[in-house]
This record gives sequence, structure tokens and C-alpha cells, in this order.
Amino acid sequence: MALPGVGPKTANVVLGNAFGRNEGIAVDTHVQRLSRRFFLTEEEDPEKIERDLVALLPREEWTRFALLLQDHGRKTCKARKPECAVCPVADLCPSAEI
Ligand code: SF4
Repeated sequence: MALPGVGPKTANVVLGNAFGRNEGIAVDTHVQRLSRRFFLTEEEDPEKIERDLVALLPREEWTRFALLLQDHGRKTCKARKPECAVCPVADLCPSAEI
């Protein structure tokens, strides 16, 4: 994060994906939205969301967890219209609209 333009999100992405180091969870807009829909956090601020998530999840899953939420957020759990009717985790989701 000493490099210009590199914040916590970018640092976590690079460390996790390029170096295999789970130093944090990259909270982008998808991780932010889905973490709230899964009731894993009530926070809005990415740094506070990350703090809640790292307390809940095993460290070895941090990078993979962010990637899974980003993928699910892009394909199914979209911001304006989540596709709950075809969502593979709808039976586990407290926000499912079915
Ligand atoms: S059930 Fe709906 S709100 Fe829950 S994760 Fe799936 S698409 Fe998102």
C-alpha cells in the first residue's frame, strides 16, 4: 500500500492471487453487497466489512471467498435484480426473494 494508488482492496487482491498470501479480504462492490445480503455484516464501510469477514472466516479461505462472491455477484446476485429463482444458494440465503 506504499505504492501510489494502491489501497487495501488492491493489495489484498495482489497478495492473495499473485502470491498466495491471505493477508485480508478484498471488499469490492460485490463482496460488500453480498456480505450484507448474507447477513455477515451490517456495515457499509469496506474496511469495517473486511474486519467482520476476517473474524468469521478461516484465513485460508479469505482470497477464495472474495473471488466466489465477486463471481456470484456478477452472474446471479446482481445489485438491482438478484436472480434468486435460479440461485444455487437460495436455500441458505436469508435475503432470498422466492
Ligand atoms: S438467493 Fe438471491 S439474494 Fe440470496 S444470494 Fe441468491 S441471488 Fe443473492
